[in-house]
Amino acid sequence: MDDATIAIIRRTLRALRLERRRGCDDSVPGGVEELIRQVVGDLAAASIPEQARESLRRLEHDARGYHALAPKRRTPLILRAEKLLAAIVPAPPPPQPEPRTEADPDAVATAQPLPPLAWHDSVTDLRGVGEYRAEALARMGIECAGDLLLRCPVRYEDRRQVLTMRELRHGQTAVLRATICGKGRRSNPRRGAAAIIPAESGGAEGELLFFGRPWLIDSLSVGDELLVIGTAKIDGGKPAVAVNEFETLTAEPDASVARIVAIYSVTEGISQNMMRAWVEQALERCALPEDPLPERLRHRRKLMPLAEALREMHCPSDLPATRASRHRLAYQELLGLQLSLALRRRQAKTPEAGSALAVEGLREAFTAALPFVPTAAQERVMGEIVADLSDAAPAHRLIHGEVGSGKTVIAALALAVAALAGKQGALMAPTEVLAEQHHESLRELLGPLGIEPVLLTGSLGGYERAAALEALRDGRTSCAVGTHALFSEGVEFADLAVAVIDEQHRFGVRQRARLSRKGERPNVFVMSATPIPRTLALAVHGDFDISVLDELPPGRKDPQTELLPDEQRDRAWEFVRERVAEGRQAYVVCPAIDASEEMAAAVEVYESLATGPLGDLRLGLVHGRLQVDERHEAMRRFREGETQVLVATSLIEVGVNVTNASTIVIVNAERFGLAQLHQLRGRVARAGWQPHCLLLTGSGNPETLERLVVLTRTTDGFEIAEEDLRRRGPGELDGLRQSGMPDLRIANLIADTGALADAREDAFAIIERDPRLATEEHLPLRDLVRRARSSDMWTL
Ligand code: ADP
Ligand code: MG
Repeated sequence: MDDATIAIIRRTLRALRLERRRGCDDSVPGGVEELIRQVVGDLAAASIPEQARESLRRLEHDARGYHALAPKRRTPLILRAEKLLAAIVPAPPPPQPEPRTEADPDAVATAQPLPPLAWHDSVTDLRGVGEYRAEALARMGIECAGDLLLRCPVRYEDRRQVLTMRELRHGQTAVLRATICGKGRRSNPRRGAAAIIPAESGGAEGELLFFGRPWLIDSLSVGDELLVIGTAKIDGGKPAVAVNEFETLTAEPDASVARIVAIYSVTEGISQNMMRAWVEQALERCALPEDPLPERLRHRRKLMPLAEALREMHCPSDLPATRASRHRLAYQELLGLQLSLALRRRQAKTPEAGSALAVEGLREAFTAALPFVPTAAQERVMGEIVADLSDAAPAHRLIHGEVGSGKTVIAALALAVAALAGKQGALMAPTEVLAEQHHESLRELLGPLGIEPVLLTGSLGGYERAAALEALRDGRTSCAVGTHALFSEGVEFADLAVAVIDEQHRFGVRQRARLSRKGERPNVFVMSATPIPRTLALAVHGDFDISVLDELPPGRKDPQTELLPDEQRDRAWEFVRERVAEGRQAYVVCPAIDASEEMAAAVEVYESLATGPLGDLRLGLVHGRLQVDERHEAMRRFREGETQVLVATSLIEVGVNVTNASTIVIVNAERFGLAQLHQLRGRVARAGWQPHCLLLTGSGNPETLERLVVLTRTTDGFEIAEEDLRRRGPGELDGLRQSGMPDLRIANLIADTGALADAREDAFAIIERDPRLATEEHLPLRDLVRRARSSDMWTL
């Protein structure tokens, strides 16, 4: 089998493994079906056993429609594909011996020059990495040489200052130069075999301790001059150094010990020395990807070339270089991301595509009909919306505001403009409960203007649905509210001009796109209450204009939040009883991992409350398994005050609005993310009463408790989001996954704000000048964009 074929198989194997690591989400570029079709095609001419060929044919057949397979049926298919391909490709050469843990400069010097490596070659192709180490590396997410090179050190240790025995301070990690001045001895074997060797420098004598290396007594001799790095122990007697690494100096000190070294976070089985040796080897042998950044840009931003950045990140020449190298690599990642956003935005905003909607005097009429005075923030955002709509370029705007900041009013205005301009508007909500509630609100807000919104959800009866669809198709309906039923097949709009998407983080990019495709490039507004830091908003929603509702309607009070251990549950129920006695209402929210558990949890809590501490109150129950009309009924009874306490699953999380409810008790709070808990408690911050949120938890885990305590300390959604982000990483933050954000290896959206701002500015400027990235100097950037749009910025 020729090298090219082997390379193809290896590459495919890596893609398959990646797919599996990502939970089989069909995120490999082009999709798994295509990946397998290609490799089978590529192997058509290769000399492989007939039986394997047959298996491949079957595999190709079974992989058809992979994207539509249920996730649990995907994994076996991927495993089968891996096994099959692994059996075809010849086994790699027998594993090299693993390196000894101490520096052994002689061995390196006499080694044969090693063959070059490709970026995607497996780590097992590195000298010193065998199956066992490769497995440990895989646990760290490192599978190929490139992965290794992109592994960011967690910190650096400056070992350039060489000290003498006299200068050591206790506990210090230091580089020391010393001369052996006596015969060594072995330590007491029960305290671990160590060589203890007397050494002298700067006129002071001390001891070098080599743990686990007793044989050094024989290989080091009096008069040898050493450079060691280790931890100093000075407690009364002679100074001693527990040596981590050392080298024998023949003439002048070599740069290999006295330098700045990178420290990585590693798993068990991998030492810092190994990482360093392999990274250095990879730097030396690996063909690096071409630098995609145009020379001019690099110059202006003072960015080092890619190869230099990789080298400096791992083997820095000085401390500023460590920062500069990271910055450069982060910038490159972020530039890819921002270019792709800039392109998307440019596509959305092409002016010839839309038409201006303007309705004379509408905004005034709308405001006049509101049951309250809009906040200054609402006024400002309404102005932005009207300006968007009177511009020919389709709007593409994110409306961002805390729970309760009054986003529905903004949506209503946009829908009113569309309807009164003789076109159509649609509002999409993530749950039926919320869609129904929006329907109610819109009837109130738009009714005075003569607009009658219709509701379209999955649970409409056949006849009603047909009638609603008909009215949308022929344009009789000018305003529709619904769940994702709105963009399902069979729904056609006569002329959809405004699409509003509420709680956008619940929808993926694709779902949003499907709604916008229902019209001729409609104006798109997405609304979000997920407080995300501004930097992140730019990174993720950089293709949107952003409006912020940074003000709550007057009279709102921040919820007082208390964390209670499960043993003190009764205090929570007592508290609820007191509020109910004052005429208020309360929610009790139960978490759920999946739908079946959701119901069980809620029913259990409901029953224990109804037969126990809240037995004499009027309780209601809603969960996802109820029939629609049962659920409506339960919500209605709560809204109208017939029930006093509503036990619910996280169903009520988004947007539900019952002003008399002033307390929310959250059971098993540790199961929710901070941002989600913050949203939940926003449910009770809606009216004049002092709202309360009680978080119950059975967890004794200090980290969990510390996380929950954040909520008792602050009600600032942005602060909470930052905290969530810091603790869980951006991938976990609501909506980032769906937003199509690629994996960033180097850039950290919190730390690299500078790089992000630069990358954003440059990306938008580049697309402005060269919208197709067609000039010679921008060609490599196309590739960068393509990679940014696949799920991993670096693996293509
Ligand atoms: P969001 O969707 O941003 O969480 P909503 O639009 O549901 O918030 O508004 C929350 C509540 O505040 C609703 O009852 C709404 O009628 C009310 N509201 C909105 N704007 C104002 C305002 N300017 N003054 C008083 N109440 C308002
Ligand atoms: Mg809302």
